[in-house]
Amino acid sequence: MSLSSVTIVGGGLAGFTTAKELRSRGFTGAITIVDPEGLPYDRPPLSKGYLLGARGAEAIQLTKAEWFAENRVDVVSGTVAELRPDQGEVVLEDGCTIAAAAIVLATGGAARRLPIPGGDLDSVLELRSREDADRLRALLRPGTRLAVIGAGLIGAEVASSALRLGAEVTLIDPVDPPLAPAVGPELARRLHDMHAAEGIRVVTGLPTGITRDGGEHYVRLASGETVAADVVLAGIGIVPRTALAEAAGLAVDDGVLVDESQRTAHPRVYAVGDVARTRLPDGTLMPRAEHWEHAMNTGTTAAAALLGHDRPEHGAAWFWSDRHGVHVEGVGSMTAEGTTVLREVDGVPTVAFRLDPDGYVVGCAAVDGGTAVRAARRMIDRRIKADPADLANPAVSLRTLAR
Ligand SMILES: Cc1cc2nc3c(=O)[nH]c(=O)nc-3n(C[C@H](O)[C@H](O)[C@H](O)COP(=O)(O)OP(=O)(O)OC[C@H]3O[C@@H](n4cnc5c(N)ncnc54)[C@H](O)[C@@H]3O)c2cc1C
Repeated sequence: MSLSSVTIVGGGLAGFTTAKELRSRGFTGAITIVDPEGLPYDRPPLSKGYLLGARGAEAIQLTKAEWFAENRVDVVSGTVAELRPDQGEVVLEDGCTIAAAAIVLATGGAARRLPIPGGDLDSVLELRSREDADRLRALLRPGTRLAVIGAGLIGAEVASSALRLGAEVTLIDPVDPPLAPAVGPELARRLHDMHAAEGIRVVTGLPTGITRDGGEHYVRLASGETVAADVVLAGIGIVPRTALAEAAGLAVDDGVLVDESQRTAHPRVYAVGDVARTRLPDGTLMPRAEHWEHAMNTGTTAAAALLGHDRPEHGAAWFWSDRHGVHVEGVGSMTAEGTTVLREVDGVPTVAFRLDPDGYVVGCAAVDGGTAVRAARRMIDRRIKADPADLANPAVSLRTLAR
């Protein structure tokens, strides 16, 4: 198919990567990225360096502003209100239309609101955009009482950053420890315990309501306890932004359903990044991924598919997170059927491997163990079998095992 134009709805990492990859693969047609937030920027720093003030707005841009003119990629600051793939266009909220021989949906997700009374208060903050981070940053001063609801990846990072900014942080989650599905229960325990050790008040409990009295917030818990806070932030996950796809009649099930080449059921529409969910040829629905590398990989894949190129190969799913000065990484699945092998240093778990019933590594997570995760990824991708005793033994080089 010879394409005249590709319009990308959403300029996050997935949308931007699609544009970049289209150009690097030689596409010469028109490329437009539409996003109300303007030039693409990176989100992971929003809970880390950007929130801490160590990196500014320019430092988190995905590329220099000149790149867009140099590569003839138009960035339109606007919101797409309707997809019209059959007419080859998208319609913006202001009524303008943009030609779109193909459409790539890269709308990401919106922060999930707390489904409790008071959860919709405008002073209950979320962290998804640079504007959200600016708002939170402006409220965090030494001594500010911050209640973070949700101790998963983003909640834990915000709690850690806020502590460094001098805030008095209470971290609330009904699950103890959170994150076990992502890193396994042993590392999840270790990571969660770090919060209290660093000076965060950790509360295991289910929030049931939030009230505000002047500048004061009260988070009520099912136990009857109330947490008072100046600032409340909810970090309880995202909801994929699928409204445009649904209105266009595309199949949606916790994400816009796509095949392994990011194609939706409509031949002119693709979906990438956090908003997309893969349905395998046998109908199996994969869990929707919400990680940085996945956003990039799906953008690359969509660009290849749009141009009729072979599907690029990507390794097992990978993510990272930073908190309290430690670096966490995970690859593959820690919830797959099988057993867990721990590698401990001085009795402290540092790497967890998930082995399937045949003994193959299918998942790995590590605290300050990037090399281990890279080795595990190679074992997963190449189906390299390793002896569990070697995996557990810190004296055995994982790099050697992965060869
Ligand atoms: C605070 C934070 C920290 C994170 N940290 C990590 C981390 O440490 N490690 C990791 O692996 N992942 C991390 N992530 C996740 C990672 O950033 C996301 O997976 C990635 O940003 C997803 O990219 P995306 O392009 O699919 O969506 P997004 O980055 O969400 O971009 C979607 C874009 O679509 C735009 N949009 C929405 N609707 C419309 C519309 N109708 N018209 C036009 N534009 C629209 C939005 O304005 C937005 O810019 C973090 C995310 C956040 C928010």
